[in-house]
Order: sequence, then C-alpha cells, then structure tokens
Amino acid sequence: MELSGKSIIVTGASSGIGAAAALLFAAEGADLVLGARRSAELETVTERVRRGGGRAVFLAGDVRDEAYAGALVELALRSFGRLDGAFNNAGIVGRMAPAAEMDPAAWTDVISTNLTGAFLAARAQIPVMARQRQGSIVFTSSFVGHSNGGLPGMGAYAASKAGLNGLVQSLASDHAAEGVRVNALLPGGTITPAGGEGDPSTLAFVAGLHPVKRMAEPGEIAQAALFLLSDRSAFMTGSPMIVDGGMSVRLL
Ligand code: NAP
Repeated sequence: MELSGKSIIVTGASSGIGAAAALLFAAEGADLVLGARRSAELETVTERVRRGGGRAVFLAGDVRDEAYAGALVELALRSFGRLDGAFNNAGIVGRMAPAAEMDPAAWTDVISTNLTGAFLAARAQIPVMARQRQGSIVFTSSFVGHSNGGLPGMGAYAASKAGLNGLVQSLASDHAAEGVRVNALLPGGTITPAGGEGDPSTLAFVAGLHPVKRMAEPGEIAQAALFLLSDRSAFMTGSPMIVDGGMSVRLL
C-alpha cells in the first residue's frame, strides 16, 4: 500500500480525474477528505470508498473561497489527526473564446478557479505540513499552457495553467527545507466531462493530437498523482510531471 496511513485532501473529487484518484488512493490505504461543489456526487464517491473498506469524509464548497480551503484542512485534522498530502485537482476549462474577444468575467472565472484556488489551497495546507515537517502537494495543471501549440480559444485556461506551473516552482523552492514537496501534474487529454466526454467528435479530435492516438483514462492520470503523493517520489519537488501520451514531443 503506497499511501498507508496518509491523510490526503482531494479536490475536484466529484468526477473525472479526482473521483478516479479518490478510489485509487483509498485502495492504497489513504484516509481521504474529498472536496468539490456538488454534494450528491461527492457523497456517491465517498460511499464507494467506504464500501471498498476505505475511510473518507467529504465537504462541498468552492475552491475560490478562502474559508473553504481552510475548512478542508480542518476537516482532515479533525477526522484523521494530520495532513500528509493534497491533490489540488479542481479546475474548469471555462468558456472557450479567443482571449482578445473574451468577456472579462469569463476570464476571471477561469483564473480564480484554476490559479487563485490553487494559491488558497497552498496557503491553507502548507503551514500544517511545515509544522509536521512533512507533506506532499500535487496540483493538476495541463499540457495546455505548456505544450499545446496554441490550441484555439483556450487563452484563459492556458494562462491559468502556465501560472500554476510557475506557482508550483515557487512553492517548492520556498518550502523544500520544511519537508514539504510541491509538484505539478500535466495530463494530456483525458476522458472526463471537462475533456469532452460524451462528445465523440471532440474526443476523436483530441485523441488525434496525441502521438499515441488516444486520450488518457482518468485512472492513468491518478496513477501519476499516486506516485507524486507517495514516498516513492521523495526526491521530487518543483517538477512539472508530464503525462500526456507524447503530446509535448510531437512534431506535427
Ligand atoms: P471534471 O470531471 O470536470 O472535474 C473537474 C472537477 O473540479 C470536478 O470535480 C468539479 O466539481 C471540480 N470543480 C470545478 N470548479 C470548482 C470550484 N469552483 N470549486 C470546487 N470544485 C470545483 O474534469 P477533469 O478532467 O477530471 O478535471 C480535473 C483537472 O484536470 C482540472 O484541473 C483540469 O483542468 C485538469 N485537466 C484535465 C484534462 C482533460 O483532458 N480532461 C487535461 C489536462 C488537465 P464540481 O463541479 O462538483 O464543483
């Protein structure tokens, strides 16, 4: 068991990559605090964890809310007595449009969820981990903003994820000496609601962008998050870990 006895927060746990990660982490022995806005979906994932013999609690809320970031940490401490890891995975693609034509409110929506939400999570989680002198934080970034080759209509999303990669480097360097590791996970196209699940033409287009000519299953991305949260990656911090079916090295 890779995460035995570790208390871990997973955000974006109501669907897609986060839900797959919750089930995988629980199977690997983690005690989980699950977060997202949709309560019913969180309850379903929590029940699946418990039916599998795992321990999980959930709290619905919005990652843009500073109080919610703190409440997830408090819940981990109250339920499990410590906080060893966080998979800060909640994110949105938002409304797609060329950045120059984008409504500023739509821009703010994406930046505040994907980037400010990450900052608020780190701000709540790192002091607890620093006191413990131990912790691992993983943020879900994206191939977009790193190696997307300028996918059309994704300016806000690309800016938010590129900004997140920069934030991860800074956090890693600021807190390495306190025993807190911080890494980014950069998935390629993944079959989830945000990844176009249910829309065959989008899925075929995105699959075709990848040298492996397919998209990832959420569980494949969760495996990389598991590695970054486990002690197997003890010497990794500040890393943008690319799990993208070869997207970043494609020629055409
Ligand atoms: P998803 O199934 O739509 O999951 C997104 C999750 O984020 C949901 O659980 C959603 O829950 C949560 N969320 C969104 N806004 C939130 C908010 N304001 N407060 C709290 N929770 C919020 O899509 P996914 O693909 O698994 O996305 C997970 C992460 O992977 C995202 O950061 C995404 O940018 C990244 N990613 C996805 C792909 C892809 O192709 N799918 C590729 C690269 C990176 P609620 O709606 O219940 O709040």
